[in-house]
Amino acid sequence: MKAIFDERQWKHQPKNFMANGALLPNPEQPERIDRLLIGAKAAGCTVQAPDDAGLGPIAAIHSAEYLTFLQNIYTRWRRIDGAGEEVIPNIHPANRTDSYPKSAIGQAGFHQADTACPIASGTWEAAYWSAQSAITGADLLTTERAVYALSRPPGHHAFGDLAGGFCFLNNSAIAAERLLAQGKRPAILDVDVHHGNGTQGIFYNRRDVLTVSLHADPARFYPFFWGHTDERGEGAGLGYNLNLCLSRGTDDAGFLAGLDVALQQIRSFGADVVVVALGLDAFIDDPFKGLAVTTEGFGRIGAAIAGLGLPTLFVQEGGYLCKELGDNLTSTLTGFESA
Ligand SMILES: [Zn+2]
Repeated sequence: MKAIFDERQWKHQPKNFMANGALLPNPEQPERIDRLLIGAKAAGCTVQAPDDAGLGPIAAIHSAEYLTFLQNIYTRWRRIDGAGEEVIPNIHPANRTDSYPKSAIGQAGFHQADTACPIASGTWEAAYWSAQSAITGADLLTTERAVYALSRPPGHHAFGDLAGGFCFLNNSAIAAERLLAQGKRPAILDVDVHHGNGTQGIFYNRRDVLTVSLHADPARFYPFFWGHTDERGEGAGLGYNLNLCLSRGTDDAGFLAGLDVALQQIRSFGADVVVVALGLDAFIDDPFKGLAVTTEGFGRIGAAIAGLGLPTLFVQEGGYLCKELGDNLTSTLTGFESA
């Protein structure tokens, strides 16, 4: 399998985020790249850099206002007297329909949902190339059965004009839109331990891209406000979003049972290509401790996805530093390829 990655994705090096009122080291560290590259190579992947498809495919998902913000905010932030080293907002609008502010601090609050997506000098460049990795991966599906895009920073918590949860550009959504533009009928299957709220939000009113997410129950887990089973889409999109909530600590058997339901929905939709938002943080020893999937379980997840018999783009989402991170990727991709 081909793996797509660009060295410039290293440039996002987040330092801080707030959790439960404590200032903590940000878990979305570039060291994840090392572990994931080792894992991909162990699965037999050959790594290549993405092409540059430009801003067009990114702007098909994200608003012009938001893209301008991501590109310029750090420079503007540095001009604020006494500002911290990273862009982290201290105020958020009560509603997304409230007035759009002119100030850097106000815009940060408007475009950053939480404190887990700090922006510094290399963030835009890293996010841009992370998206390009997913776009090239999508394009390669014309000839490949499956491709792995090592998209880091991740993307599935990013909405059309809103960063959040370590995510800036929604790589999986950008890839799905790219495939749609090529005349395909894509489904996005999100197996990250966290609900893919940004992806859901982007396609919520649409029926041309199916979104399915399997995740720890958000009643008591990030992202809290989204990911519940009654969120099924809206307007033309009603019935084209499926959330499958799993109890905290769900094991391999429970996850695979939920995955069966997800795969059945993708078959019913008549998808001819699948984008897997591949979080590896459902792992039992992931620092987020939401679910209890084992390394072997990831192999079974990969095999079950292969059972769809569709061209498959794996887009890296979460999965944080623990000694098995690379092994869990190897297991997923090997499980897929040997099925
Ligand atoms: Zn996650």
